[in-house]
Amino acid sequence: MGAIMIRCPATNELIPVGIDTDKDSFLGLPEVQAAPVQCPACGGQHTWSKKDAILETTMRIRSRGSSD
Ligand SMILES: [Zn+2]
Repeated sequence: MGAIMIRCPATNELIPVGIDTDKDSFLGLPEVQAAPVQCPACGGQHTWSKKDAILETTMRIRSRGSSD
């Protein structure tokens, strides 16, 4: 599993779009514009499509408060 990320055009940071998926499902996504995502980096909203997106599988995103 991985998190779909896009790059914020304002801060150039990678931000999660809030969708976790696996590689096969990611590759199978249609090339359509997705719903705007609220950007945690700049506070704006960004529209994105699959060509803007990457599947982040290397970075481990730990949820806060995890006892891990
Ligand atoms: Zn942004």
